[in-house]
Amino acid sequence: MLAVSKLKRAYGDFVAADEVSFTIAKGEIVGLLGHNGAGKTTVMKMLSGYLEPSAGSIQFQGLALQEHLKTLQQKIGYLPENLPIYPELSVAAYLDYAAELKGLRGEEKQREIKRVIEATDINNKLLAPIASLSRGYKQRVGVAQALLGRPALLILDEPTNGLDPQQTLQMRELIRSIAKEATVILSTHIMQEVDALCDRVLMMRAGRLVLDEKLADLRRARSLLLTTNKPAADIQQALNQLTGVKAVDILGKANDGEQLRIQLGDAANVHNTAAAVARAVLQANAELYQLQPEVRDLESLFRDLNNAEASKHHVPEVNRAA
Ligand code: ATP
Repeated sequence: MLAVSKLKRAYGDFVAADEVSFTIAKGEIVGLLGHNGAGKTTVMKMLSGYLEPSAGSIQFQGLALQEHLKTLQQKIGYLPENLPIYPELSVAAYLDYAAELKGLRGEEKQREIKRVIEATDINNKLLAPIASLSRGYKQRVGVAQALLGRPALLILDEPTNGLDPQQTLQMRELIRSIAKEATVILSTHIMQEVDALCDRVLMMRAGRLVLDEKLADLRRARSLLLTTNKPAADIQQALNQLTGVKAVDILGKANDGEQLRIQLGDAANVHNTAAAVARAVLQANAELYQLQPEVRDLESLFRDLNNAEASKHHVPEVNRAA
C-alpha cells in the first residue's frame, strides 16, 4: 500500500530525515513518534507530496508519488501541523475550495462536504469565518478537509492537538472508523493516544528511524513478576538455574511478600517458563502469592528506548552534514 525507501530530506547542510524506510499495509494505524525536531513533520510532508525528498522513494498503491503526484494526492488526506487556512473564508467556503482541490465536483462534492461536516461535528460553525474559530474548531476543520474524497491514506500531524478531552475521544473514535477503510499515519506526543489507537509504532530520532514495531510486540513482557513468602534470596538461585531464565532481580517487599523480577531469555517461552517458576517456588517450600507477566507502560518504555538509542549512536542533536 505504502512503501518508503531510504527517504532523505536536507535543508542546506542540515539533514532533517535520512535513510527512512518502512512499508505500511492497508487498514493499519501507525503512530510516528519522536522528540521535538526528530523529523516527523518532515517525513509526513514528504509522504503527502508537499515536500520533495532529497533522495529515496515513496510508492503509494504501486505508483511512485513524485511521478503521479496529482493523481495520488487526490487519494491522500493530510492534516498538517499548521493548517494553511484562509482566515477570511467561512468554514463552508473553505471546505468547498478544499473539495475542488481534491478533484470533487457537483453532487459528489456536496455529498462529501456534508459527510465530513457531520464526521467532525462542525455543523454549527459553517458560516463562521475561520479566523473566528477556537483552536479546537480549527483543528476539526483541518481534519474535515483531510477526510474529503475518502482518502486511502490519511496523514495526521498531531490530530488531537488543541482538542478538549471530549473532542479528543471523538477524534480517536473517528480515526478508528476511518482506519476500517484507509491507512492512517499519525504523529503524536501523547502516549495514551498511541495506546488507544495505534497498531504499530515508528520512532524517529535525529532524522533516523530507530524503531519499527507492532505495539503488542513492544508491550509483550520479557519478564515475570513473582511474589512469594520466602526471603527472595533463598529462591533466587533456584530460579536462576531454570531453562529460559536470563536473570533474577530482587525487587524487595511488596503485596505482603517478597517480589522478584525474572527476566526471560530471548528464545524463552513465557508460559513454559512461568510453569517452571511455579514448580520451583513450591519445591523450595515457599508459598506462591503472585506470578504474572510484567506489564510495561509505554511512557517508560519509549523513554528507555530513546535513552538506549542516544547512548548507542551518540547522534548529536545538531547539524549532521548531508
Ligand atoms: P515537532 O515534534 O517539534 O513537530 P518534528 O519531529 O516534526 O518536531 P520536523 O519539523 O520534521 O521535526 O523538523 C526536523 C528538523 O528539521 C528540525 O531540526 C527542524 O528545525 C528542521 N527543519 C524543518 N523544516 C526546516 C526548514 N524549512 N529549514 C531548515 N530546517 C528545517
